[in-house]
Amino acid sequence: MPVLVAYTHATPIVELTMLFTDLGLSKPLLKAIADKGYGQPSAIQAEAIPVVLERRDVMAAAQTGTGKTAGFTLPILELLSGGNKVRGNQVRALVLTPTRELAAQVHQSALDYGKYLKLRSSVVFGGVKINPQMMRLRGGTDILIATPGRLLDLYQQNALKFEQLEVLVLDEADRMLDMGFINDIRKIIALLPKKRQTLMFSATFSTEIRQLARGIVHKPAEISVSPANQAAPSVEQRVYPVDSKRKAPLLIQLIRDEQWHQALVFTKTKRGANKLAQDLTANGIEAAAIHGNKSQGARTSALREFKAGKTQILVATDIAARGLDIDQLPQVVNFDLPQIAEDYVHRIGRTGRAGATGKAVSLVSAEEFPLLVEIEHLIKQLLPREILAGFEPQSVLPNSRPGQRANAADLRAARNNGGRGNGARGRGGRNNSAAGSQSGNRKADSQRGSDTTAKQRKPRRPRKSTAEAGQQRAGPGRRARGRAS
Ligand code: AMP
Repeated sequence: MPVLVAYTHATPIVELTMLFTDLGLSKPLLKAIADKGYGQPSAIQAEAIPVVLERRDVMAAAQTGTGKTAGFTLPILELLSGGNKVRGNQVRALVLTPTRELAAQVHQSALDYGKYLKLRSSVVFGGVKINPQMMRLRGGTDILIATPGRLLDLYQQNALKFEQLEVLVLDEADRMLDMGFINDIRKIIALLPKKRQTLMFSATFSTEIRQLARGIVHKPAEISVSPANQAAPSVEQRVYPVDSKRKAPLLIQLIRDEQWHQALVFTKTKRGANKLAQDLTANGIEAAAIHGNKSQGARTSALREFKAGKTQILVATDIAARGLDIDQLPQVVNFDLPQIAEDYVHRIGRTGRAGATGKAVSLVSAEEFPLLVEIEHLIKQLLPREILAGFEPQSVLPNSRPGQRANAADLRAARNNGGRGNGARGRGGRNNSAAGSQSGNRKADSQRGSDTTAKQRKPRRPRKSTAEAGQQRAGPGRRARGRAS
């Protein structure tokens, strides 16, 4: 048998002698896989499919882009293709996802992979009318993909019953915790039969995730396919130090100079996303915003237009963008740095997939220095910097050091956008005392949620250091390279 290489996150990390035909899947599924054009299973698929087929519980650390959706959908469809016919309002497999977009994508996968099987799959999420969903559920559903809130609403209205439930999947469990869905998840689990198979997928196995898993999964097979918290090597990363008020003009210039034809841009707040999309549009750049306040119809059409290449720039908050599978996305921009360092890795995971190269650009103001420090600590590398001539920051972004941690108070201030985190303290030895502070702050942040319309407080101007200003001043050319790592 030939030795094949399985790709996860665009990086060949496992050598496998595995084919889809070796995994125990039946012909209708193999045919659907062939229709999708998949040559070989990805690492998560090779590991998860046989275990799920044995009806074992699974805890898998895998990010979007690793092929995890097929990793659980294929074996679930296989299991469901045997067994009893589903009865009215019953569900045999339930997949919980944090966002509507991810729910729609998983549903599409279930339809694609299950197209030669006689199974019913449905998707339910909020933001759209509940009645058509109630009607669809009447005849019973073999595989239901749902966001937690709408699922509970439907249950309370007697549209759902779980006596026939065999499998529960928690997809992107870490994000569900971040979004404050923990109580909903616990309520849902209390409604399900105790005897069931549970599969939990998460980008990382944090302490919180392991706590959630306790009592939910039983003797799970643990699978981890990509080293946590690492960006794909095929993604070129760069930081542009810039004052916050100059970020939009800098972005416009970069889009024009570098002729970005398709870029996903992340902002911290919904309001920021709207404002930036308006600014770009006013400058003749086709842009749309996608976030939780938009109607489902608007979100779906914005995504469709972007995927089709009709919208040049899609501006998104983390939660709206989480799990979006956009093929061959060449460019990701952090207009605002994420509040949680792990989200940096998730964001830039949108690009550089499937062997393609990608670029991830971060526009970083001095106020965001503590966030940058935490990101660089997490990914264990200092990000190369570049200052675009004409955009030299008045408030200088301090230099960071390998292994540096942000001071806890600065980090909190930077997350609140209060401007206290100017990095002046962050450069000193006291920094290291904040080691481990991030996990402590994470909870408060997750409860606040990154998709909220946070009031933007005016950042105070950080202290300026002449030495640093010298280091980062743009040279005579169009650009000056800052510190490269
Ligand atoms: P996911 O991580 O589940 O969001 O999947 C990411 C992308 O990889 C999707 O576009 C899938 O269609 C694609 N994909 C999944 N499995 C394979 C495979 N074995 N070979 C090639 N592409 C795949």
